Amino acid sequence: MLSERMIQNFSNLVSIDSISRSEEKVHDYLKKKFRDLKLKVTEDNSKIKTSLGANNLIATLEGTSEKEPLFFSCHTDTVSPGEGIEVVEEDGKLFSKGDTILGADDKAGIAIIIEAIQQIQEQGIPHGKVEFVFSPGEEIGLIGSSALKMDMLTATNGYVLDSGGVVGRVTIASPTLYMYDVTISGVAAHAGIEPEKGISAISILADALQNIQIGRLDETTTANIGVIQGGESTNVVLDHMLIKGEVRSVDPQKANILIQEVSNYFRQAAKKHGGSVTIEIKRMATGFHINDDENVMKTFLKSAKNLGLEVVREVSGGGSDANSFNEKGKKAVNLSIGYEKIHTTDEYIPVEEMKKAVQLVIEIIKNSPNKME
Ligand code: ZN
Ligand code: CA
Repeated sequence: MLSERMIQNFSNLVSIDSISRSEEKVHDYLKKKFRDLKLKVTEDNSKIKTSLGANNLIATLEGTSEKEPLFFSCHTDTVSPGEGIEVVEEDGKLFSKGDTILGADDKAGIAIIIEAIQQIQEQGIPHGKVEFVFSPGEEIGLIGSSALKMDMLTATNGYVLDSGGVVGRVTIASPTLYMYDVTISGVAAHAGIEPEKGISAISILADALQNIQIGRLDETTTANIGVIQGGESTNVVLDHMLIKGEVRSVDPQKANILIQEVSNYFRQAAKKHGGSVTIEIKRMATGFHINDDENVMKTFLKSAKNLGLEVVREVSGGGSDANSFNEKGKKAVNLSIGYEKIHTTDEYIPVEEMKKAVQLVIEIIKNSPNKME
């Protein structure tokens, strides 16, 4: 039975330890696997730059018909505890023995891809060129996919198979996230004897906060100040403060404007009081938003409909390799493949969901539009 073959492939994959930065063995396994399936296997040389255990790996299924190329993506690393994983099947669900994660995040995606390729080949299903991308280092900050040169891919549209919940859910958006540290510097002075010689960091902060917005700013935009540190004594004009905050928005433009505003308001307030600020801004993630009328979604929606799947569009709070692809000009959504309770020893995946995901991958490949003349 085909699901047995898929479960076997999945068990083989999770039995190869691949905690982030130690992905080499699973990449070796995949190279052999895809060569055996007669795919063309290539890799970049990003390992030198990323210090991960492996390069990005691309397995290409050459097209048998004139359809637009597509790509699919999975990550090959797992979180801890992820060594010595053994799969246990119970009530149609796959679990670990309980002392490790299962690693369905994201090896279920890889097993689904392998099964889909095998079924396409066995059934002689016509298909365009399909590129399967395997990236290390996702769990520690999308490091592998961030280093991938997108000109290694022919396809513009792709599907990341790395989201939890039932098949049919699709992550269409993810926020751009900025984190910032502001150090406010004033001048200390005795608060009782000569306060006029001091410049209070508190006053600068209070002024800045007249203008800085926090909380929910619109449906997909939020801002927060989460850390305020400073001061030791009530009789000293407070001269140093550290403020830590963030802004996030699914609209990258909005996030950019907001973070600019935050720094301007701190600077203006410091200037007004004669103090100074240093502001350190880190862009932690670059978000994306894919609309229903974009080809990558059109193909997904048509495929889901053909299979009778209930489509649920989601906005993710965190990042995935889809962020990297979208940031660099590709169009990618992240599809749910059925896993639950990831990053815990209770992680599991129902076999039925995996089978649905295989059918979804095949259907998407079937429904890729014909190449424009
Ligand atoms: Zn994952
Ligand atoms: Ca994960």
